[in-house]
Amino acid sequence: MTNSPGVDRPDLSTLFAATADGIDVPTTATFAVLNPATEHVVGYAPSVTPDQLDGVFAAAERACQPWQSDEGARRQALHAAADAIDAATDELSGLLTAEQGKPLAEARSEFTRAAVWLRYFADLQLGHEDVPHLDGRAAVQRRPLGVVAAITPWNVPLVLAVWKIAPALRAGNTMVLKPSPFTPLTTLAVGHLLRRVLPAGVLNIIAGPDPLGAALVAHPTPRKVSFTGSTATGIKVAQAAAAGLKRVTLELGGNDPAIIFDDVDVTAIAETLFWNAFTNNGQICRAVKRVYAHESIHAELVEALATIAASTKVGDGSDPAVRLGPLNNPAQRDRVAELVRDALDHGATVAAGGRQPARPGYFYEPTILDNVTDGVRVVDEEQFGPVLPVVAFRDTADVIRSANRGPYGLTASVWSNDLDRARAVADQLDAGQVSLNVHGGGVVPHLPFGGHKLSGIGVENGPWGLDAYCDLRVITSAGR
Ligand code: NAD
Repeated sequence: MTNSPGVDRPDLSTLFAATADGIDVPTTATFAVLNPATEHVVGYAPSVTPDQLDGVFAAAERACQPWQSDEGARRQALHAAADAIDAATDELSGLLTAEQGKPLAEARSEFTRAAVWLRYFADLQLGHEDVPHLDGRAAVQRRPLGVVAAITPWNVPLVLAVWKIAPALRAGNTMVLKPSPFTPLTTLAVGHLLRRVLPAGVLNIIAGPDPLGAALVAHPTPRKVSFTGSTATGIKVAQAAAAGLKRVTLELGGNDPAIIFDDVDVTAIAETLFWNAFTNNGQICRAVKRVYAHESIHAELVEALATIAASTKVGDGSDPAVRLGPLNNPAQRDRVAELVRDALDHGATVAAGGRQPARPGYFYEPTILDNVTDGVRVVDEEQFGPVLPVVAFRDTADVIRSANRGPYGLTASVWSNDLDRARAVADQLDAGQVSLNVHGGGVVPHLPFGGHKLSGIGVENGPWGLDAYCDLRVITSAGR
């Protein structure tokens, strides 16, 4: 990231310290975080260096034993954390919009959802089974792993951090968490606020440009790495974690298909489908990334999506009228532009958008592409941006094959008024979550979320996500 001449910095600088052991980590360097809507500096994040990790992990390790020993205190602390995050919504949601780009209403919703997740895990029971064994019973217990490392991406920084913090802490682990260098400020600020409600060393939040992430994974202390980000980086994390036999949870990329059958009411579904693809500019792991529309309704659907795209207000997310902000960073914007160029070179046509507006910031018009097929990069790859290819299909078996093509298997959806048909197709889709007549309908605290194939290993959320932060311990007694 580079400095730029303009500066629009909220007066939150004291909240931007890295936190370990409940106090500021002294750092000698900072790095600038830019507002993607203006390219101005939002703030400067403290740059923790890999050689400081011993001290940070030591703090997390010291906090483990007392934190594990009092389940009631953990539940209370997670409720207090939820209250603190709720209370910080007005103060900090503008910061999230400034560093990430999303409209203010969506930034506020991240705070709300973060609090919901914390409360859900505060109240969730740790599993405990008493199973028949010989002529007596054996106890199967969940035990915390110890210190966990967590690494998050830039698209939904606060919610994705809390997806890790809430279950890990509930189970009795302590954590060292590193946000993306593109969006570290809100996470650091929340970490600072949570010092008031969490014992020292339980949650340590550090920022820094890479290779800090790799150093976190390689450090000998953490027993697990929970990572959300791209598949390419996830593979590196898995390789590095294997050297220390660390557990991993990997939430990675996706290329999520929506299959639209001929019996839908196009006018009725277009708006929902559009926002399932374009919310946060498509920078959501479970966003619709490719639409397969039956040939009999394909043209009508393209037109309906294009009309919505053309009428959607794009701009600085701090303007309440704006529905789509900029992309988060120039590399992501350039990737979207390149995929659109490549599609046009391969015969695609633009039904809406297709241009990078001439203005500061990393903007790209919401774009609907027609006349695209499997085999074109924008259909085959994860675009993670505001461009949606709409592919025509005729045959159900063919479209199922198309949906299952490629290395990913995160989410998918099937849209039809015939629910029996929709369920039968859903049964044949290789994805961690398949929704009917909506996309991503099950991203809630109580349902497991995770990908098949190269979309990840393991799941987050629900009791399954809590189990991922535990080892099992079996207690038996002699002869029974
Ligand atoms: P990224 O992989 O570039 O970076 C993610 C994080 O990893 C950042 O914090 C980064 O600093 C860190 N990192 C970089 N190199 C590392 C290394 N060698 N070892 C450890 N950490 C390292 O991903 P991104 O561009 O920030 O996020 C976009 C990607 O995230 C997309 O592919 C998207 O699909 C995926 N994502 C997946 C989910 C999900 O739940 N499956 C959710 C959100 C985003």
